Amino acid sequence: MRLKFANKYWNVVFKRIAGDVVFGEVDEKTKTITLSPMAGSESFTLLNVAVHEFLHAEFPDMSEDKIDDAGYNLARALWRMGAQIVTYEVESDG
Ligand SMILES: [Zn+2]
Repeated sequence: MRLKFANKYWNVVFKRIAGDVVFGEVDEKTKTITLSPMAGSESFTLLNVAVHEFLHAEFPDMSEDKIDDAGYNLARALWRMGAQIVTYEVESDG
């Protein structure tokens, strides 16, 4: 899906990230935000990762610590109000 952050359009894809070490990635060059289905649909982790990566896209100069804190707090607030990521299409490699 295409979403707008910091006045630019980003392609948001659900796709496994090589090594499964992280659950989310932002590629500034290709304007692609990748979220890993390994974070588990309907999980707090996936919501937290999504909000975290969206904040990176919106505030590219913000420190990792601030993104981490703000993202967690926003995800926590949304989660407590019932927000979940329940449906998405996973892209395969290649
Ligand atoms: Zn980060």
